[in-house]
Amino acid sequence: MEPNLIDIPNEFYPYDSHEPFKECLVCNIDLTLGVTDYFVEKAIKNNLEFKVKDVVFEYAMCSKCAQNMQQSISIESQQSMQNYFASQAGFMSKIQAYQAGKGDSINELLSKCTITGKSIDEMPEYMIFGHFKGDKMIASTMPYVVGNFVMDALSELLSTETLDEMNGFKDQYFGGPVELEDLWKNKPVFL
Ligand SMILES: [Zn+2]
Repeated sequence: MEPNLIDIPNEFYPYDSHEPFKECLVCNIDLTLGVTDYFVEKAIKNNLEFKVKDVVFEYAMCSKCAQNMQQSISIESQQSMQNYFASQAGFMSKIQAYQAGKGDSINELLSKCTITGKSIDEMPEYMIFGHFKGDKMIASTMPYVVGNFVMDALSELLSTETLDEMNGFKDQYFGGPVELEDLWKNKPVFL
């Protein structure tokens, strides 16, 4: 086994499942074979008053489809997002520590917003991202958590075309309850 492959934390399993995602949302390729690496993204709504968390949407996407998706984002939006992350000193140093094998544990990483450090139990909405291959997580790319504060900051940086693109993607794959659709409209996907 390659040394940078670790067990997938349960947080990245599909809702209510005890096994990793099995196929790409877009092209339906079989991810269990471990031929293509893939990303998992989950958006979670957290009812702070009742301490109940709901998965608003979740998916696995193979690296090929993720690349196609990324190409549909305008260059200026891509640049703005990169600049945003690069300007977050705490975020960059966490990535460097993680890649040097000196970062926080996976549990620690997944317990708070990677940018603001705020606990996931205190944020009304957040998203988690990770990189995988077959039934393992690829530890060369750090999993991260983005809270509502960062989601709002990012969506302000995105061009109208990019937001339309992202909303179209969500409408196509996750037509859900209206109240949730409103909540997630204009929030970034596939970072
Ligand atoms: Zn795919």
